[in-house]
Amino acid sequence: MLQEIAPHVLNNQYDPDAKVQQDSILFFFRGSELLCKKNEDEIVLPRASEFKDIEDAVYLFSFDGTGCFLPHETPDASDGYAYRDIRVIRKTGNASQHFMFAAFTAYQLSHWYSVHRFCGHCGTDTIRSEEERAIVCPVCGQREYPKIAPAVVVAIIDPEADKILLTKYAASRGAYPYYALVAGFNEIGETLEETAAREVMEETGLEIEDLHYYKSQPWGIVDDLMIGFFCHVKGSREIHMDTAELREAVWLSRDEVIPQPDNYSLTNEMMCLFKDGKEPCIAR
Ligand SMILES: [Zn+2]
Repeated sequence: MLQEIAPHVLNNQYDPDAKVQQDSILFFFRGSELLCKKNEDEIVLPRASEFKDIEDAVYLFSFDGTGCFLPHETPDASDGYAYRDIRVIRKTGNASQHFMFAAFTAYQLSHWYSVHRFCGHCGTDTIRSEEERAIVCPVCGQREYPKIAPAVVVAIIDPEADKILLTKYAASRGAYPYYALVAGFNEIGETLEETAAREVMEETGLEIEDLHYYKSQPWGIVDDLMIGFFCHVKGSREIHMDTAELREAVWLSRDEVIPQPDNYSLTNEMMCLFKDGKEPCIAR
């Protein structure tokens, strides 16, 4: 999965005292576009020694012991550098997995800082906390922490037919062309178990039982924390697909499961476990 980057280490603990060093890595974002060096076989990010006047950059995290920072000003792309969309970099596959995990994590933080420049309560310019990774309003004291949106991923298994329910997203959800599992965001006031049951019912019309937690995954683009469950279908196997969310929902045998083209997602790991007959035992 995307975050499994050993032996590399991304330490996301915030250090308010961290200062830019000559070898610090700089993440210059313009939206989801990231400044990279040109003409490298692998994606390479600029170092602080290549730029002037970036002492006041925001500390993001350390990567293999090197500090990574978010400068306030973004330079124009110039000789030797180009802005590249991190979603395109992911698809073209010329970046290592540890780079992609660092880039997606940095992007989430960059986006969070950029949309919290003003207090949502009173409109005053916000400032960064000097103690922790937080943005505070100097007038009313409103305090904001990085946004994390929990979302469930649900592998529904029919134990009698030995099949799994796979879906393909509708165009309104990005028309991702590969098979996926039922997934959706947790609502306020809802347990994760209730989210799983509701999303499965909304998208497929099926009831579930024997919900079994598997793993979680931080997922970079829309602030998700994916929480994966295996479960059994309960009662009728007849699918009533929500066409606003899905364009396909089918029961497939282990042989028929077609994995996604990369190993980044928790969804793909769960699909592959079923395909290989290695899914966790689901207590009934
Ligand atoms: Zn305020």
